Formats: sequence, structure tokens, C-alpha cells
Amino acid sequence: MRKHIVAGNWKMNKNLQEGVALATELKEILAAEAPNCDVIIGTPFIHLATVSELLKDSCIAVSAENCANHDKGAYTGEVSAEMVKSTGAEYVILGHSERREYYAETPEMLKEKVDLALANGLKVIFCIGESLEQRENNEQEAVCKAELAGSVFHLSAEQWKNIVIAYEPIWAIGTGKTATAEQAEEIHAFIRSCVAEVYGQEVADETSILYGGSCKGSNAPELFGKPDIDGGLIGGASLKAADFKAIIDAWK
Ligand code: PEP
Repeated sequence: MRKHIVAGNWKMNKNLQEGVALATELKEILAAEAPNCDVIIGTPFIHLATVSELLKDSCIAVSAENCANHDKGAYTGEVSAEMVKSTGAEYVILGHSERREYYAETPEMLKEKVDLALANGLKVIFCIGESLEQRENNEQEAVCKAELAGSVFHLSAEQWKNIVIAYEPIWAIGTGKTATAEQAEEIHAFIRSCVAEVYGQEVADETSILYGGSCKGSNAPELFGKPDIDGGLIGGASLKAADFKAIIDAWK
């Protein structure tokens, strides 16, 4: 059975002390009441080592929100996949629409990042999703398929085991507009069919596909109740332990 996952993406929020406080609170809450799904928190680079150490005996895994598309060397300010791995983090979020849009990350760059992340033993949460304009033109399937083909469909079936897909319609991220559960299910099923075309149905059935975009405690049960939605990638609602826990509880 594929994994059910609730993953947080803190983005550029929380200084180190605030991040440690939030991770500590989550650790305590989930130690008192074990989750029914895998739980991951995506933190800024500067938190990774401290938070990974803090959570090492807990049920919470740690993710970076990015890594470089180069192995090492003269790339001032960049953080390599190997460096991320050395902090104790297990995952890296790649392909987030904010990185694609504000930092001009291309499918080719993302392919390089994915390859380096996997080569360094990280698992990848790979984000795809269409803009409002693309949705209005009914291009969501073509966009998602092209984003997968451009950056992850070159992987072997063995490498694919370390990929989690996050479908995040850009028009729903941080806007308060959630895709309806039916809209989300329709595209999740399509994404799974794309995975099946490349890797076969068995691999597709084992692939976790998360929904992201204004997911909260109030809408998570309906979203997660759909057969092809295996959890969520959560932005805003991952910044408070109680809000994040309410989403995790949707799997109960
Ligand atoms: C995200 O950016 O990954 C996200 C899903 O954000 P939010 O939950 O705030 O819409």
C-alpha cells in the first residue's frame, strides 16, 4: 500500500528559535498521539541540522525546500544535495511553483536537482501544477504531464521509489481557494495514469501523490477521502502545530 503523507512547507517563515519551538511542539503532540500517516516538515536550510537532531527519534521526517543544481564548487550562497543530506534531512521539495516562478527554475535545472538529490540519498517531493490561466484553458493535464516528462520521467523504476509527487494548482496556493475534492481527484487520477504509462500500473499504485493548495483541517478529510489523493503538502497551515495536527488527524 502506498504511503499516506502530510508534509509541511514552512517556506521563508520562522527564525531558528521559532522553528525549533514549532518542531518541539509538534514532536510532543505526535508523541502523545501517534499519527496515522507519515509526517514530514520542510524547513529553511538554516533549521535543517538542528531540527533533524531534535526529531531524530520521533515520527517526523525533515525536508529541505530546495537544493542546488550543481554538485559542489564556486556557487556562492547555494546549498548542495550532499550538504542537505549531511544535516540528517531525508527529503527535499523540488519544483515548487514559487521556485519555478520567482527563481526561474526550468525543467532542465529541476532535472539536475532531482538527479543530485537522489544520488545523495535524499527522497524528493516533486511539485507540479497549473496556473489559473492554464486551468481556465483546460490545460492542467498537459501542464502536469509536461512537468513530469521534463524533470522526473527519465528516472529508473528503482529511482522512482524515492519520488513523491505533489499536485499543487498555483491558483490555490496561499489564496484560500482550494481545488474541490472532485477537481483534485480527477487530476490526481490522471497523474497516476501518466506514471503508469511510464513505469507500469504496479509502480503507479505505489506512488504517493499529495495535494497542495490552501489545504486545512476543514477540507483535508474530504480531499484525503478521494482514492488517488494520498495526503497533502501544506504551506500556511503548517506554521501552527494545532493547524498542522488537524490536517494530520484527517487520516484518523
Ligand atoms: C505550498 O506552497 O506548498 C502550499 C500548499 O501552500 P498553502 O497551503 O499555503 O496554500
